Amino acid sequence: MHLVFATLIFIAVIVVTVIIFGGWVVVTLIRTIARAISGPRTAPVARQVSYGPPLARQQLIRCPQTRCMADNPAGARFCRRCGQAMEAGRVRKVA
Ligand SMILES: [Zn+2]
Repeated sequence: MHLVFATLIFIAVIVVTVIIFGGWVVVTLIRTIARAISGPRTAPVARQVSYGPPLARQQLIRCPQTRCMADNPAGARFCRRCGQAMEAGRVRKVA
């Protein structure tokens, strides 16, 4: 009788685990489908806003380091990629 009771508890635990995991799988699938429907372009734009103002419509200055040539915001004092001082080159570029 004790063994039957233990087996029932064991089965109940398995059922609960399957229900929880199944719910998680369903939620994940719904989220994935919703993202696919809404389009993957909305997520990167939202991430870019969190980093700061979008650089596309800003005035950009190019890094004077010839090996780097990274675009930086117009007010930057140092290159964000290589750390080169931006005042040395003053290579301006209007985006
Ligand atoms: Zn640089």
